[in-house]
Amino acid sequence: MTAEPSPYAFKMGELVLLIDPKDRRYLVTLEENGSFQNHAGSLLHADLVGVDEGSEVATSLGQGLRAFRPTLSDFILSMPRGAQVIYPKDIGPILMMADIGPNMKVLESGVGSGALSMAMLQAGASIVGYEIREDFAGRAKNNVTKFLGEEVLNRYQVQIRDCYDGIEETGFDRVVLDLPEPWNVVEHAASSLKPGGIFVSYSPSITQSVQTTHTLKRSGFGELKTTEVLHRGWNIAGTSVRPDHRMVAHTGFLTRARLLHQ
Ligand code: SAH
Repeated sequence: MTAEPSPYAFKMGELVLLIDPKDRRYLVTLEENGSFQNHAGSLLHADLVGVDEGSEVATSLGQGLRAFRPTLSDFILSMPRGAQVIYPKDIGPILMMADIGPNMKVLESGVGSGALSMAMLQAGASIVGYEIREDFAGRAKNNVTKFLGEEVLNRYQVQIRDCYDGIEETGFDRVVLDLPEPWNVVEHAASSLKPGGIFVSYSPSITQSVQTTHTLKRSGFGELKTTEVLHRGWNIAGTSVRPDHRMVAHTGFLTRARLLHQ
């Protein structure tokens, strides 16, 4: 009698995150005849098939690797990137500030590597993405489907367009931007958002947020807020309980506003 396969076990074709004892992380897609290699030996993909998530497996040289299904955050940090991605630290707050949820119609520009797109799609939104670079648009679509599956393309439509030239469609619930000159999109956002619709822009430099804020105030937006998110990790080990020695001091500023009914 053969045992029932465990419902938690990895299958061929799945994404698996392998973590070594030094917390180095490797993302693999399980393939027939595939193998994983690092300085500490190799591991056949087939040896992961049938293994329960959360297990430790050993490489040919006996190094232990912990195997999990990657979270969205794991995937974003290890996926192929062309453009600089927005990091999970800021993506979480963007989802709240822009109030992203099922059936929200979102205009996103630029899509870059698709990190923010993935989080908004995972939250249930439908996205029209404007991206000027065809190669980035292609990579974003690859990343998005690799993590969320092909079906998500029903809700993810990327167009090769310059967002500064205008937004063609109307009736958007949300406009979410990661662009060098977001103020150039404010007037377009005002005419394509529903009243009460939310505008969120991520910018690395505060002068970009200042210019965007001034333009929003002149263009019929209210409820303005600019926020910076700081995360400080803590080390908890025995009697040593203290903040981490290093932290990411800066990524970007988040500016949010709502379209007023005129
Ligand atoms: N938020 C993305 C990263 C975006 S990087 C992520 O999380 O992965 C900024 C992107 O904006 C780049 O891909 C760039 O090609 C695109 N871009 C720059 N100017 C643009 C414009 N005027 N219209 C549309 N896309 C633009």
